[in-house]
Amino acid sequence: MLDRVPFRIVLGLSILAVAISATAFPQQPDFSKTIAATESAPHEVQPTPSLGDLARHMRSAKPTEVKTSPEDAKKLFALVDEITAFASEDSGYPRKTAVKRRLISQDEAEAWFRQRLANSEYTERLARAEVSMKKFGLLPRNFDLKNFVVKSERQGVAGFYDEESKMISMLSWVDADGQKPILAHELTHALQDQNYDLKVWQKAGVKKSDSKAGPETPEGEESVAARHAVVEGQAMVVYMDYLLAPLHRTLKDTPGIVAAMEEPSVVAAIDTEVVHDAPIVFREAGAFPYHDGLLFEAALLEKGGKKLAFGGVFAHPPKTTHEVLQPKTYLESEQLSPVTIPNMQPLLGGKYEVYDTGSFGELDVRALVKQLGEKRLANDIAAAWQGGSYVTFRRSSSASPSASDVALLYVSHWKSAQAAERFGRVYAAGASKRYKNAEVKSVAACTGAQCPVGVAQIATEEGPVIIQQWADNTVVISESFDTATAAKLSDAMRNESTGVHAMRRMGVPQEELSMRLMAIPAFQRYQERIREAALQELSARILGK
Ligand SMILES: [Zn+2]
Repeated sequence: MLDRVPFRIVLGLSILAVAISATAFPQQPDFSKTIAATESAPHEVQPTPSLGDLARHMRSAKPTEVKTSPEDAKKLFALVDEITAFASEDSGYPRKTAVKRRLISQDEAEAWFRQRLANSEYTERLARAEVSMKKFGLLPRNFDLKNFVVKSERQGVAGFYDEESKMISMLSWVDADGQKPILAHELTHALQDQNYDLKVWQKAGVKKSDSKAGPETPEGEESVAARHAVVEGQAMVVYMDYLLAPLHRTLKDTPGIVAAMEEPSVVAAIDTEVVHDAPIVFREAGAFPYHDGLLFEAALLEKGGKKLAFGGVFAHPPKTTHEVLQPKTYLESEQLSPVTIPNMQPLLGGKYEVYDTGSFGELDVRALVKQLGEKRLANDIAAAWQGGSYVTFRRSSSASPSASDVALLYVSHWKSAQAAERFGRVYAAGASKRYKNAEVKSVAACTGAQCPVGVAQIATEEGPVIIQQWADNTVVISESFDTATAAKLSDAMRNESTGVHAMRRMGVPQEELSMRLMAIPAFQRYQERIREAALQELSARILGK
């Protein structure tokens, strides 16, 4: 087949795509119906408080600003043991030692957060991630990641467990009842920590790359983000079980409940925490551990019960955001061959040098597709992800490049030809919008021995964007190389005989791109606010409005 039909880069197609996706998404189960149905289950013998009672209780238990009385302080301290016992029973994690506890004032809580921020550094690696994210369009070009801080418009109303001091901090200005559910979440972290040493465990997937050119071992490719989702997902399960306990239910035996995470009101609550004007990737990466972590844990509970969902997954954690987002692939131990990019340096001469490299994971894809305005397609496209890696190159002349000084090579694998084609089309439409002067070029028919099944080319003010879809469901994208260089790169991708080494051996960790945001304490604080919003909305959903 020599005739290459270019991806049609017309907006009309994306409208068609949206129309298709509308039928592809099943309706979310109606959560309120689930509760009503299970409430009247005949096997309930114990007297159960009505939802109305609980809702009234929750309303009265809404965190209210109080000055903790000595009795309340006593109550809070006793609650730690009581709720730790609940979390231990619920998770199966034994309590090894009593959890240290303290009551802190608003000022002390502020100081703690401020200190964490002060300890942060904007590393070279983050600077490179920022440029790569801007080149992809995951961050706006004028976004200032270095000076990104979460504005504290609102005082946090949640206690927290600190892995450094192994201590749970409760708030002196919130009444005891109002702090109960969050304690169930935070004390689950205390138990995880007692059993697995969270600080070590959460980083265990990544081997530290030795400064200069030490080759990265394959073990270095695990995602810290995936482990983080396990840690938070488990705490979310215990939190929800704690809320459901008065109804003599658990998350596991109330299946429809997880769908509450998708309820518009919960989604809206999460969205209100999105920093003003922050890009979609912040929301996606911010909500990932709580939202997607909970859905992942719920799938494990369903499949293998408590044993699999707690201790089991700590022993064999998911390795990528893909495994978290598609629990089936984790449960079936799906093996994906990593996408490697050959060392292109010899082809590029002295003109370009490698600036940044990493994985472009399923969550990156989902965020990117949403950023491109294809919200309804995002889950579908992301679900067909089978791997992705990228390299950004800087022109040798630019010491600290901006996004317009770098060129990008991005290779991805997809489940089917249709999926590859659809991603290529959405990416091409996105590139047309992303650059100021974008012009779709017609592509000459390929006459070589190896030809892609589809090509799109867009001329931009930063050089051409070339998107090729290959018969093996690979999509190769280059941006900002001149056409001749782009052709050489594409050729090298196909031709093993060039004898180039895999880029993965270049000594750069393979963390998924947007997950590198999690290294920023300000981003962690932003995540905590997302968590709080999600938890409050979930408890309202569970216990009535
Ligand atoms: Zn947590």
